[in-house]
Amino acid sequence: MKAVKTHVGRCDTCGEPAAYAQLLSGGRSFRFCEQHAPLLVKKQAAATSSTSNEDTKK
Ligand SMILES: [Zn+2]
Repeated sequence: MKAVKTHVGRCDTCGEPAAYAQLLSGGRSFRFCEQHAPLLVKKQAAATSSTSNEDTKK
């Protein structure tokens, strides 16, 4: 699973502007606002944006 911060699109749950996107296989994605983003998505997005020098680390 990969997740990133985004400013594109709207939350799938409530329709507010999205803050996070969860990227799925096949080019699909889920979008979440701050309120509805699962904790795992927030953690993953934070890790993605802050650990570009640790790509191989899980
Ligand atoms: Zn929402």
